[in-house]
Amino acid sequence: MRLKGKTALVTGSTSGIGLGIAKALASEGANVIINGFGDAAAIEAERVAIEGLSGGKAIYDDADLTKVDAIADMFARADADMGGVDILVNNAGTQFVSPVEDFPVDKWDLILALNLTSAFHTIRHAVPGMRKKKWGRIIGTASAHSIVASPFKSAYVAAKHGLVGLTKAVALEVADAGITANCISPGYVWTPLVEGQIPDTMKARGMTREQVINDVLLAGQPTKQFVTVEQVAALASFLTRDEAANITGANLSVDGGWTAA
Ligand code: NAD
Repeated sequence: MRLKGKTALVTGSTSGIGLGIAKALASEGANVIINGFGDAAAIEAERVAIEGLSGGKAIYDDADLTKVDAIADMFARADADMGGVDILVNNAGTQFVSPVEDFPVDKWDLILALNLTSAFHTIRHAVPGMRKKKWGRIIGTASAHSIVASPFKSAYVAAKHGLVGLTKAVALEVADAGITANCISPGYVWTPLVEGQIPDTMKARGMTREQVINDVLLAGQPTKQFVTVEQVAALASFLTRDEAANITGANLSVDGGWTAA
């Protein structure tokens, strides 16, 4: 249990990739703060399961990450109840698919606030405690869309490129303080986020569900397989190891070869 005594905050961890990362870190003994939205009973069941994996403590915080004060409150609670945050995973994100000229302004604002600006706030709250402990890990769930673009995803592509830029700048600032900051950039992972964008893509491109899966989602992924949550979570866990102490400022692809093309 190499992460015993450390606390991981994984944003957007009530579902999908974040939940997988929370479980992987708990399996190594970390105390975990899970965050996100969803059914209260289902979240409580996951929280209890995560405690079972770590043998430590897991708490749930319902902070809406588009709200600056809610993020501050979550960190105050992390300090009071969990001894601060040693591993910060900026994972929460959302998507909206539309031609740029019709892109709803409120959706642009939401995607930038959640996928990018929230990471600025979590990082600025987390870094002072990490500096004091001379140890920290900051991991962003970016995307292949942090490296290449796709049409109709202007806000998402902009936010993910921004998340990588933010994480790289922070990596340089904290490089001599025992803290690393990296992004993981998955290709398509089968999660509720991907499932949720199929109807809009069908509409935007005039395609059937099967066409969207095979000709859009998996078209650029040479392995022709969805990435799994467990594959992304395993890399996140590796980044918390001592062996990863010199991996910093990197954007690591787990995309079945998508961005090699
Ligand atoms: P998901 O929809 O399963 O999970 C998103 C999580 O964010 C959920 O826990 C949700 O409750 C939470 N969330 C949403 N709005 C929130 C808010 N305002 N405040 C706090 N939490 C909020 O999605 P996922 O596929 O697991 O995506 C996780 C991350 O991985 C996202 O940043 C996404 O962009 C990225 N990503 C996903 C894929 C993919 O193919 N699924 C690929 C590359 C990158």
